[in-house]
Amino acid sequence: MRKAPGAGGRRGRGGGVPELSAPPRRLQLRLLLLLLALVAGAGLYLSWGLGGGERQPRGPSGAQLSHKPRSLSSGQVKRLTALVDLRRLWSSFLKPMLIERYPGSPGNRKVRQLIVDSLGSLSAGWRVELDSFEDRTPRGIVGFANVVATLNPAARQLLVLACHYDSKYFPRDRRGRTFLGATDSAVPCAILLELVTALDSELLKAKEQGSEMTLQLLFLDGEEAFGEWSETDSLYGARHLAEHMVKVQHLPGSSQIQAMSLFVLLDLLGAHQLTIQNHFPLTASWFDRLIGIEKRLHKLGLLHSHPQEQLYFQRESVYGSVEDDHVPFLRKGVPVLHLIATPFPWVWHTMEDTEENLHPPTVENLCKILAAFLAEYLWL
Ligand SMILES: [Zn+2]
Repeated sequence: MRKAPGAGGRRGRGGGVPELSAPPRRLQLRLLLLLLALVAGAGLYLSWGLGGGERQPRGPSGAQLSHKPRSLSSGQVKRLTALVDLRRLWSSFLKPMLIERYPGSPGNRKVRQLIVDSLGSLSAGWRVELDSFEDRTPRGIVGFANVVATLNPAARQLLVLACHYDSKYFPRDRRGRTFLGATDSAVPCAILLELVTALDSELLKAKEQGSEMTLQLLFLDGEEAFGEWSETDSLYGARHLAEHMVKVQHLPGSSQIQAMSLFVLLDLLGAHQLTIQNHFPLTASWFDRLIGIEKRLHKLGLLHSHPQEQLYFQRESVYGSVEDDHVPFLRKGVPVLHLIATPFPWVWHTMEDTEENLHPPTVENLCKILAAFLAEYLWL
């Protein structure tokens, strides 16, 4: 993904944001820089709002925003989060994904098969479809395939969880290493698979009860640019799928896009001390629920290496929004939560984005928070 020009800068290494412990004179300068960056960011926001209506052109329908979550008792929170199994996440889902998997590569096919097989082994009975297509890239015509998994296709509305399973193509480095993209985005994909595995029987129950709201998972291909990021060289899978879904009927009277109640995109997760900020006022109440769940799980003693009650989810948006797989859906009016670490992890787009630089307790904590979020949203 590419970071829009905002306070974080393109590389997302924390530049431009003042550290409160800095000496006063430097702090002033940094605050000035931050202010300028925010002004630039606001300009971008404004241009998004005005330039072709790219932020939320048609606006979501009432149905998309009227959904109410269910409150969970402390007992339910404990039981549901205890279903998350970090060891399974790591060995069954994450490790096999840590291979080179750029679109069209053997590793890409292997990881796609792992995703399809993992979903196929669950008792909830997922409908798994491939959205395969070819597109022109700076490296010639390349084949792509998104994996679309729907729990109950007959449900009226969908909570969508998305990640990208391709890795960015880099030539081997001088030490012969390939780019593995552990945070980008093997961990988010492993989290999605672990969530539906951990909640398998709850999801089956919800499906059998004919809930109005169901879950859909999108494992997107071709998020990364082959060359320099541009409108045509990036987001291959998300652009193709959004175009397809706007035309295809979900139930009579609504397209697959209109059936999306909320689109939650996970990206760049798994490193130590990450923070996630909200970029969309429209979905702020859902982001606030994530803050609330993090605090609640902390108080219940369910999170590890979590020294304060609010660590990951921060309401303030001091970084610019980031171009990522949600954009084609956002442009079609889908409400979005973009759960991406800002600033980007220091390993971003380097050969250091490996298993060794992940922080397992952070991965487990995020998984537990999201398990509780799903249970609230889907009334599990
Ligand atoms: Zn990337």
